[in-house]
Amino acid sequence: MLALVAFRLLHPAQQPAPTVPFSELAQALGAHQVKELRVDDGGARLIATLNAPKTIAGRSQTIIQANVPARAVTLSDLQQWSTSGVRVTVDALGSAAGVQLLIQILSLSVIVGVLLYVVVRQRGIMASARFVATPPSRHLTLADVGGAREARADLSDVVAYLANPDRYRALGARCPRGVLLVGPPGTGKTLLARAVAGEAGCPVIVAAGSDFNEVYVGVGSRRVRQLAKRAREQAPCIIFIDEFDSLGGRRGRPNRSGEEEVTLNQLLVEMDGMEANDGIVWMAATNREDMLDPAVRRPGRFDRVVEVPLPTTTDRAEILRLHASGRPLDPDVNLERLAQLTVGHSGADLANLLNEAAIIAVQQDSDRITNAHIEQARDKVLLGRVRSGVIVAETERRLIAIHEAGHAVVGLVACPDDRLHKVTIEPRGRSLGAAHFAPESDRHVHPRSYLEGVISKALGGRAAELVFLGPDAVTTGAGADLVQATTIARRMVAEFGMSDEVGLISADPSSPSGPPSAQLQGEVDRAVRTLLATQARRAESIVREHQQAVDALAAVLLERDILTAPEVHEIATEHGVTPRAIA
Ligand code: ATP
Repeated sequence: MLALVAFRLLHPAQQPAPTVPFSELAQALGAHQVKELRVDDGGARLIATLNAPKTIAGRSQTIIQANVPARAVTLSDLQQWSTSGVRVTVDALGSAAGVQLLIQILSLSVIVGVLLYVVVRQRGIMASARFVATPPSRHLTLADVGGAREARADLSDVVAYLANPDRYRALGARCPRGVLLVGPPGTGKTLLARAVAGEAGCPVIVAAGSDFNEVYVGVGSRRVRQLAKRAREQAPCIIFIDEFDSLGGRRGRPNRSGEEEVTLNQLLVEMDGMEANDGIVWMAATNREDMLDPAVRRPGRFDRVVEVPLPTTTDRAEILRLHASGRPLDPDVNLERLAQLTVGHSGADLANLLNEAAIIAVQQDSDRITNAHIEQARDKVLLGRVRSGVIVAETERRLIAIHEAGHAVVGLVACPDDRLHKVTIEPRGRSLGAAHFAPESDRHVHPRSYLEGVISKALGGRAAELVFLGPDAVTTGAGADLVQATTIARRMVAEFGMSDEVGLISADPSSPSGPPSAQLQGEVDRAVRTLLATQARRAESIVREHQQAVDALAAVLLERDILTAPEVHEIATEHGVTPRAIA
């Protein structure tokens, strides 16, 4: 654009020579009225300067031009015109076209330049917006974290230090340099880090491990230096790095790039370079402690590990109460009971459950959250949202009903420790049906018989298809079940030493003892196959034994689409299923 303006300023607009038919220009040439002839535009235009002005379209002109077909002018034409006394010049590419091309190139370079400038500026702004400290705020404190009692106690030292680092300095006491929060996703690790900062009234700089992963050489380590510099400016403060495994991962792993290693080294250098009492506490959270480089855990670096496990029943009740406060709950809502029914849920799951219930209450125009809303939210979270647009043919519905009834009956018999929640053939989420079981109480270890029962339950759907439809009619419905069953079976064999054939040896590929040998891997595969086949036979024999119960359940499912646990129990007992689970 600028180039165009400059060109216009340097070359004020001139009256262009009038274009005449070629015959007129040829006539002028023949009559020796042309003193100069320029072949322009690569031979596509002839521009003639006349000996005397000529009147064209009412104006007197000394220059005229005519278009000719491209490459029509030959060398012999040029010779002929020259010998007739005309001064002939040739422009390889028309000068006007050349100027136009130049303008285009200049305009393009200016546009590219402006774009580059904007991008660089944007990156500059983003870089300066990175690692900005959240100002001290006492809004969030450890009282806002439900459960996690041990983690809160472990972190109280850090709070005391950050609140008054001088006191520690005076007595020569050293606070842990780094605190590693370890636990499954959604258990409140980020929340705890923010709560510590809130409790101590100091700023917190939040980063994610992936912020340091860049393909460009040196960017990751520059960001680590930038992070440490920001922290020094803000001290006393907390640096919190989420998803720490992507920054502090084990060096020398096959899929780790050299650049990532340089970034990790820079982190170690920065941590070592900080004085023991300069008021900066590094906190990091990870779900994969086993992936971390041992150097990260050395004293003086992340020397305190705080476990943040999945909440227990009491913790869940506490978390539910925290998230329910400020929400109008109907008296029929029993949070203690809900806590019992949500074994395995993290704090984030529970917060999400109550939020979904609140959304459903709004959608149903209710002024309070009732137990029914919570039940619907639970179904939505556990089983997925109902896909009302999916039309399933009647024959397919029957197949699905048989499959789910098979899961339900085999689950009741083979896996009585898990409580049945619901059986449905409504298309929800990614599945067309589900028999949902959940553990009845918190469990910390699982016996072999329980895990075998879970595998059998997972294979119960395929077993029912085999018994009711025959081997040629089995469906693709067992795909996800097979994945679940194989995962448990493989862990039983390779990690928990629960296979007599393989024995007591770890064949876990990610264990520090290294991946299994090819021979051991082969034995593991054979043992997994045997385990699955045994449990498949067990599921099939349960279905054969309780064929009537499976048939009756499938028939009622076809009528009602969804059956609650008491309804399933009633039908099952009517047809002779008397498992411990029902009792
Ligand atoms: P991830 O490992 O996936 O990063 P996280 O352990 O850091 O997860 P948070 O991000 O802290 O989990 O938790 C997400 C949300 O879940 C919180 O903002 C909070 O609403 C809720 N939450 C999780 N744990 C608790 C808890 N113990 N008490 C209260 N709320 C919790």
